[in-house]
Amino acid sequence: MSGYTYGEQVPIEECGLCGGHARAEFCDVGVGMVQIEPFHCLDCGAELNPLVNGEYLPGWVLPAPPSSRGERVTGYYITSKGTPLEMTFDDDHDAFNRRAGTSTSELLWRGWIRITLLEGYAIDLPQFMSTKARRTLGRVLKTIEAESEMGDPYVRMQGEDFGSEMPRPSIMSLVSRLPTERVAVTPAERSPA
Ligand SMILES: [Zn+2]
Repeated sequence: MSGYTYGEQVPIEECGLCGGHARAEFCDVGVGMVQIEPFHCLDCGAELNPLVNGEYLPGWVLPAPPSSRGERVTGYYITSKGTPLEMTFDDDHDAFNRRAGTSTSELLWRGWIRITLLEGYAIDLPQFMSTKARRTLGRVLKTIEAESEMGDPYVRMQGEDFGSEMPRPSIMSLVSRLPTERVAVTPAERSPA
């Protein structure tokens, strides 16, 4: 727990799981502002060092996923940091994008993966992928195979007009050849000022 003094900016943390903006509640105690709630990511809902069953859990912790409450999972985002975020009917990719003030293409650009299970089974891949994200993708695809009869997904790479249906081993082979960081594509990015 921390705080800040009058006139200082309200502290904002970067979420360790999705990179979103995390905020905390602060209370005016007369001599400054004292943090009274853990930092909470507005995008994915993770909390920093939350108090659970009387114990502070270390690091960023996601709330219980919808599947743990028996809700149907209609898709996933896998963040560039390799955190799987479950989507549901009521809280889908569009809802997430609105909340985070972003778009699917922006997230793909940042190395996120989008998986949808709602109207068919489709995967949108970014042009680069961290090792952690790749590992999570392998795990999530196995879960989907085990729990549903969706067949092979339609896989599309960002920036390409068409994709194709691919079995899991082909997908994993494809993503193993992706760079782990974004490759500079514009002259400005190639030679940053
Ligand atoms: Zn987050």
